[in-house]
Amino acid sequence: MKKTRPSFECWKCKRTFGQVVELEGDPVLSLECPYCGAACKVDLAPYQQRVVEVMKDGASGLGEIRYELPDRIPTSEPGDEAPTQECRTR
Ligand SMILES: [Zn+2]
Repeated sequence: MKKTRPSFECWKCKRTFGQVVELEGDPVLSLECPYCGAACKVDLAPYQQRVVEVMKDGASGLGEIRYELPDRIPTSEPGDEAPTQECRTR
């Protein structure tokens, strides 16, 4: 378990709140703003960095995924994903 407590900025009321999250598995988090109660979706995928370790024998092993999180992580409204062009052809 990799727990951390970054700060998130609510997309609705723009206030910042800290929340303990586990950085494991799915990088998409569903949070709730403690101020206005808005559901906040956070995609941590852009902050992922896979650490590749090079062994002594030259083989590179697949390292663990690390997160480089900014001081304030922006959130977005759930279900408000911008539809991709492919999805709009119907
Ligand atoms: Zn809020």
